[in-house]
Parts: sequence; C-alpha cells; structure tokens
Amino acid sequence: MSPTADIVVVGSANVDLVIRLAHLPGAGETVTGGELHRDFGGKGANAAVAAARLGARVALVAALGDDADGAAIREDLRGSGVDAGAVVGVDAPTGVATVLVDEHGENAIAVASGANLLLDGPAVRAGLAGAAGPGTVVVVDLEIGDEAVVAAAEYCLAAGCRLVLDPGPARRLPDVALRAAAVLTPNRGELDVLAGPAGAPGLLAAGVGAVAVTLGADGVELHQAGVPLVRVLPFPADAVDTTGAGDAFAAGVAVALHDGRPLVAAVAFGAATGALATQSHGARAALPRRQAVEALLDRRLPDRKLPHG
Ligand code: ADP
Repeated sequence: MSPTADIVVVGSANVDLVIRLAHLPGAGETVTGGELHRDFGGKGANAAVAAARLGARVALVAALGDDADGAAIREDLRGSGVDAGAVVGVDAPTGVATVLVDEHGENAIAVASGANLLLDGPAVRAGLAGAAGPGTVVVVDLEIGDEAVVAAAEYCLAAGCRLVLDPGPARRLPDVALRAAAVLTPNRGELDVLAGPAGAPGLLAAGVGAVAVTLGADGVELHQAGVPLVRVLPFPADAVDTTGAGDAFAAGVAVALHDGRPLVAAVAFGAATGALATQSHGARAALPRRQAVEALLDRRLPDRKLPHG
C-alpha cells in the first residue's frame, strides 16, 4: 500500500493552560494577578504541526478524551493541515498541561496526561498501517505509554520506516525502541536519564542509529557509531521562548530525512527549524515554513565552505 503521509507522528496532544505571573508560587502559596492563555500543545501535536508547517503530508496518531478539549484539538489539527483520522477517542479526559511562567520566563509545569496514556498498541498499529509506508518517517515522543512506543517501534522495524524518537520526558526505553530508532533526539538532561554514565555511545551500542543531543543555544552534538562526533553549530536566533524548540527540531530532522537529505544535513535543517521556533512566545506561534528554514541554511553555507577556499 502506498503511504498517504510523509511523516506520521505517534505521540501526545494536550491543551496547555498557561498562566503568566510575577513569580512562581512556592508550596502552599497563592499568587494572584496572573494572565491566562489557552494554547494547544503536547509534544506529538507540536511536532505534527511543525512538520505540516514545513510542507510535509502529516498524520498524527494520538488519543483524546470525548470532551470539549478533545474536539478543540481535532479542530486545531485540521486547521493546521494535519490528518487527524487516526486520532482515537478514549474514555479519559483529554490531556492538560498547566504551565506557570514568571516574568523572567522561568516555568513550572504540571501535566495530567489523561487520554494520552490510553493510546494502545492496536490504535498505533492501525494508525500506522493506514498512513505509513517504507518511505515514511515516524516520529515518537514519550508523553505516551510504553505499549504505544513499543507498537510504533515494532511497526517501523517490520515496515522499514525510519523512526525519529524524541525521548522526552525521559525514561528508560524498551530495547525494541532503541533498536528501531534511526535517530534519537535527547537534550542533555534526557540523555543522562536514558543512558546514565554510558552516555550516547551506550545508546549506539544498544542499537540506536544516531544520537543527536540538542544543546539549546549551543546547537547539536551528533553521535554515530564508527564516525567522529559532529558538532552542528547553532543558527542565530532572537530567542524569546524556547518552549517546543525540541519538538520543532525533531520535526525538522524527520522532514529533512524524508526529503532524502543525509543525516548531518537533516540535523542542520532541524537546528534551523528549532532556532526559528524560539522567536515568539509559545510552542506554535513561531514554527517556520520551509522557505524560512532554507533561507537560514543558505545564509550559513559560505561559512561552511571557508576552510575549502
Ligand atoms: P529541548 O526543548 O528538547 O530542550 P533544545 O532547547 O535543545 O531542545 O532545542 C532544540 C534545538 O533547537 C537546539 O539543539 C538548537 O539547534 C535549536 N535552538 C534551541 N534554542 C535555541 C537558541 N536560543 N538559539 C539557537 N538555536 C536554538
């Protein structure tokens, strides 16, 4: 069967309730004077919308509650050009993240995962079977349970789909997920949880194809077995909010791999996508279109060519 999607994201979808406050409350403290913003979020939905913004045909496999938040998320996905046909309804409230942000941009986040944790193996297999083929790149995050992660990994191994695994929030990964991952995209903190003292080389030894460690404003370190470490320098950004930069990065890598770019070029494409995504508040507002990413990549080409004259 020919794939109907370039990118299939298997992951979370949430409503984010963001409250901006003068300072974050301590235990037992009430801080008044906040301002509420209701956003759409969840790493999976963020990555799906990021990939669609880059021009890819994208399907999302996720679980929502049968409630107003779930209906609003479906509507938002449709409006963002994401195929939500494989988003299932389950008997739990749609996931909600309460995000408190102080005037310095420091945050504290509480998540009620709800429906996301009821995304099961059969729903993942059915969603992938309907949308993914050998050329499809699958993106998975860890705001869903292990059953869903394992089902996606097994599908990718069997069908020959490349898997970009964005391991946040970090927890130890099932072996099959390590073997299936073409690219793992942890930040430093996530890498520590996933790999412990063995670090990225330990993950490569467990079967991961490549580990792209995201370093925020310092760019990316790319580890591959038998190949010297590659440092992908950051792209300049007027960063105002780095929420969702990692989701945008993973989506950018996936889209570039689907385009046929080699891995280092795909990681640079992801880094440019991540940099642009930091330039307004919230995870979604600054997600770039392909043209903006290409323009940023083009501007850097002369530097890269310098050593060769
Ligand atoms: P996460 O949100 O998972 O912690 P990062 O903050 O490391 O992920 O961001 C992912 C990628 O986005 C980075 O590796 C980098 O390429 C890009 N990026 C993030 N923040 C900035 C920034 N301030 N300036 C330039 N690029 C950035």
